[in-house]
Amino acid sequence: MRWLHRCPSCGATYAIEPGRYLCDACGTRNAPGLPLEGVLECVWEGDGGEARKIAEAGGVPLPVEAEYFPPLPVGDTPLWEPERLREALDAPNLFLKDDTCEPSGSYKDRASWLVAAFARKHGIREIALASTGNAASSMSCVGAAAGLKITVFLPAAAPAAKRIQVLQYGAELREVRGTYDQAFDESLAYSAATGVLSRNTAYNPLTIEGKKTASFEIARQLAGAGAAFRAPDHVFVPTGDGVIIAGVVKGFEDLAALGLVDRVPIFWAAQAEGSSAIVRALETGRFEPRPSATIADSISVDVPRNGSFALAKLKKHGGRGVMVSDEEILSAQRMLSSNSGLFAEPSSACAFAGYLKARPSIGRGETVVVMLTGSGLKDIKSAALAVGARL
Ligand SMILES: *Cc1c(COP(=O)(O)O)cnc(C)c1O
Repeated sequence: MRWLHRCPSCGATYAIEPGRYLCDACGTRNAPGLPLEGVLECVWEGDGGEARKIAEAGGVPLPVEAEYFPPLPVGDTPLWEPERLREALDAPNLFLKDDTCEPSGSYKDRASWLVAAFARKHGIREIALASTGNAASSMSCVGAAAGLKITVFLPAAAPAAKRIQVLQYGAELREVRGTYDQAFDESLAYSAATGVLSRNTAYNPLTIEGKKTASFEIARQLAGAGAAFRAPDHVFVPTGDGVIIAGVVKGFEDLAALGLVDRVPIFWAAQAEGSSAIVRALETGRFEPRPSATIADSISVDVPRNGSFALAKLKKHGGRGVMVSDEEILSAQRMLSSNSGLFAEPSSACAFAGYLKARPSIGRGETVVVMLTGSGLKDIKSAALAVGARL
């Protein structure tokens, strides 16, 4: 099966090969303080017959062959049917997609897994990246299983658990005295100077493609008797850089293109009030940089790197935005834990808080999936705050 990168803005196509990140033409429009331009998409060539066969056999069509994926169990995560929560909310068709149980404890493993497979296919030995914490712990985890050297650029303020994971997995940690946005620039400079493969989110197109795999799982998990796939009505996604939401929309686009589902669900970008660039751009049509401030560190970004790409995808399919306060995030975190048994970090609780806020515009019987992307154990400080406990 043959794959290409395509620029969604100008339609230019490129081979999927080491050293290829942004579109040559559109990538030159990049300006500091704004989302990346020229972010590329992965597309298959031909009518998709082979992709359909892979999906129908229980797999996900991806641009790297299965034999290159590192030996650790990424994806195929559970879809919870939280009985008590459903009763409490009178929402009989509420589901929770649980990526807290990924190997490193977050959704990022889906992208790291694909990037590591690409590295193995091309004989690449080292991967570098910037991260707010989870991408770093994830790439380090997958790198440990794959035997790859991982160099991470992490803001010194990242939650301790995520930093300790990086060290446990044996990656090289470069602490950045500054924000994630500074770490992003420093890691790109390192990759440019050394030629090391970059896993920076959105910049490397495989980070978006890797995150589509949950869509195939959800559609399969929701299918009742007689059907192989079914799309939910609504999906709530915690959103920072906008890579997860773009990837999951792409997954449903693929499924629809293959005729396996009848539509792309309504996607809700859930953001914290203090880091809400994508939700605001959905309303105004423009990105306005603003320093971020939220307790939900994984979705705290000044500049949403994949903002333009994600916005285009959301607009194409009637996506919506919902903003919640840090207080709403912490109270949603506790409500979720105590009514379902699923303890998620603040970013994920943001998606659940977004759902709670959006409920008036959702029908009682509609099928809703809330994506819970990171384990609550990754940020005990915030979780302690939510229950009024001292550490
Ligand atoms: C990275 C991350 C997100 C947000 O993903 P983006 O692609 O930045 O929008 C949400 N939840 C968790 C746990 C994350 O690590």
